[in-house]
Amino acid sequence: MHDFIGKALTETKALIAQAAINSGRKETDIELVAISKTHPAQYIEAAAKSGQVLFGENYIQEALAKQKELAHLDIVWHFTGRLQSNKAKFIPGHFSLVHTMDSLKLAQILHKKILYYNETTGQNLRQDVLIEVNLAKEEQKAGVSEAELPMLVEALANMPAICVTGLMLLPPFHLTPEARRPLFAGLRGLRDSLQTETGWDLPVLSMGMTDDFVQAIEEGATLVRVGTRIFGKREYA
Ligand SMILES: *Cc1c(COP(=O)(O)O)cnc(C)c1O
Repeated sequence: MHDFIGKALTETKALIAQAAINSGRKETDIELVAISKTHPAQYIEAAAKSGQVLFGENYIQEALAKQKELAHLDIVWHFTGRLQSNKAKFIPGHFSLVHTMDSLKLAQILHKKILYYNETTGQNLRQDVLIEVNLAKEEQKAGVSEAELPMLVEALANMPAICVTGLMLLPPFHLTPEARRPLFAGLRGLRDSLQTETGWDLPVLSMGMTDDFVQAIEEGATLVRVGTRIFGKREYA
């Protein structure tokens, strides 16, 4: 029924593999997160049946409903939307990676929710997160500024239930894919220096979407977030 999804996945993976080779890496060094926000659960099921495991959702309520409906499938869920602090309690146990950690306040609230989750479930979860960086200094854009980054990093160092595994970037929409390259390279450089300064292992660079995942991979992305190319255009209600 949704044959186009399997085909689009195959094509996308071929492009990822080629971009990996262009950057001197293996295709297995790059992971594809299928961004399924606003699309029905049946689309996710079709992609999962074509072998896709990683899915990213942006809206908590929508994501939880889909997780329930698709509980019979082997799916790994990422949270890729803007996280509101009043929704942080829904993260632990539901998303293996949060791409959008971008403020001290959010980190503190999420950390509390994870500790509470561990207390009440008897688990010992360390929530993986990426720090979203607003490298282009866009106003009204999510993401921590480069100037605020050291403070956030220092605070996160004292939150044992949160584990930072890398950085995430959402470049300005008005830039062409080629014009985004310096930002992709910039995120990589920032990751490298942060790794040196903190001694943390920060292997993940989440950057690249439908229009620019090839450029992002060539500049070092390890996790690309592709929606439209796999599922088609989104209809917003
Ligand atoms: C929606 C979204 C994507 C996917 O965008 P496409 O252009 O449809 O591939 C990627 N990352 C984030 C953070 C998103 O919100």
